[in-house]
Amino acid sequence: MKTEILPEGSTLDPQNWDSIRALGHQMLDDMIDYIQSSGQRPAWKKPSAYAMASMQQPLPEISQDAAHVYEDFFTQVLPFNTNNIHPRFWGWVQGGGTITGMLADMLASGMNANVSIGDHMPMYVEQQVINWAKEMMGFPSTASGILVSGGSLANITALIVARNHFNKSIRRKGLQSVSSPLIVYGSAETHNCAIKGIEVVGIGSDNFRKIPVDEHYCIRLDELTRMIEEDRAAGHTPFCIIGNAGTVNTGAIDPLTELADIAKANGCWFHIDGAFGAIPKILPEFQEKLKGIELADSVAFDYHKWLYVNYEVACVLIRDAAAHREAFAIAVNYLITHERGLSGGPDPFSNYGMELSRGFKALKVWMSLKEHGMDKYRQLVRQNLRQAQYLAELITMESMLELVAPVSLNIVCFRYTTPSSNNDELNHINKEILMQLHEKGIAAPTYTILDGRYVIRVAITNHRTRLTDLDQLVKAVIQIGNEVAAS
Ligand SMILES: *Cc1c(COP(=O)(O)O)cnc(C)c1O
Repeated sequence: MKTEILPEGSTLDPQNWDSIRALGHQMLDDMIDYIQSSGQRPAWKKPSAYAMASMQQPLPEISQDAAHVYEDFFTQVLPFNTNNIHPRFWGWVQGGGTITGMLADMLASGMNANVSIGDHMPMYVEQQVINWAKEMMGFPSTASGILVSGGSLANITALIVARNHFNKSIRRKGLQSVSSPLIVYGSAETHNCAIKGIEVVGIGSDNFRKIPVDEHYCIRLDELTRMIEEDRAAGHTPFCIIGNAGTVNTGAIDPLTELADIAKANGCWFHIDGAFGAIPKILPEFQEKLKGIELADSVAFDYHKWLYVNYEVACVLIRDAAAHREAFAIAVNYLITHERGLSGGPDPFSNYGMELSRGFKALKVWMSLKEHGMDKYRQLVRQNLRQAQYLAELITMESMLELVAPVSLNIVCFRYTTPSSNNDELNHINKEILMQLHEKGIAAPTYTILDGRYVIRVAITNHRTRLTDLDQLVKAVIQIGNEVAAS
């Protein structure tokens, strides 16, 4: 095929601005309709054979109309969403997004801002959002922070700062410059991304001490102090303690102030993974339980989970701003801030994280927080907390259901039981129930395994859930469970 030489003035902008405008309006209407009607569709739908085949095409060579491409999106992609916008989506820990978040992403994308360096307003919007994060988490205004893609990157960023702060030669000489192994401590319920982070920063997962948990799935302090002493005796260096504000399995909150004390007494960095469980810090009734956050050296949390901001955006805060900067800043002559002009402006964000080019994810956070206000978020977080308690009560009242873990936040772990089935059989039955809940489009919880027991796990970071949705879930679980158990 012959490639035409394009005439002077060619661009990727549309030839017909009126038709792209009409298409854009159509997309906007379609997406607002789509979100408005989220509860009228199944909670999940398996991608169709047609949709799957549509993703096996060769690299496109020929131009086609944007409207055709949109048609493909509409028929091949949109119907088979993750569907965390659904009122009965309670899988993993995923927020439901908002219309404002969607629109803000469009605005940010339209600006096409690269929020890394320079004197332009998106830089200051991110600074504003980070300052608000400090207020939410009780961090001092002198702390620093950065927006990242998710809790995983937020946790890893904190670990990099902790490591580089521990020994100033690590940046140049690597961990080879450290004479004894650095040890990180966290409960056995610590999220896998923290362990990944420990591997990525070169400490190695063998140097992560998985401390056993108590019956509430919280870290056992006696075991922690015992292991720290053991490591010291072995010539190792206790270096960092990770506290969980809301574990991913059950929502357990570790005794954070006690962890802060132990970290301090042992010269350890104290990091908190608060991906979703740090958010109730905005509620007066959680001040005591989450007090440790304001004592931490760093905290990681997501906006896209329990603050319902659209994917993806999270935040890491570092108490010691100088340590944060020293962990990442590199003076290269093309990135020096000038006194005036576009090359002026704030300290580049690349001095505070791994990325240079970065999108304007701060805008959706800024617009959402301004539109709804913290009081609305407090109400919504409380609503989810109440819903979790309500579901736990429904489960407790049903003889065929068993609540498997205490409900300390917004996560409910339960299973279907029959007196005549052993644990293996129950595991099989509950897995089958979960798959049928999805296939029938009834609801989308996910699962975990607690002490060998397969449990259905409902994580409510969903502002569209109503109590009747939980009634429906319980009814369906019992009905499917009875059918499966009888077969
Ligand atoms: C979800 C989660 C993470 C990871 O966050 P992402 O935004 O998915 O990267 C880390 N820790 C906990 C406790 C989580 O629930």
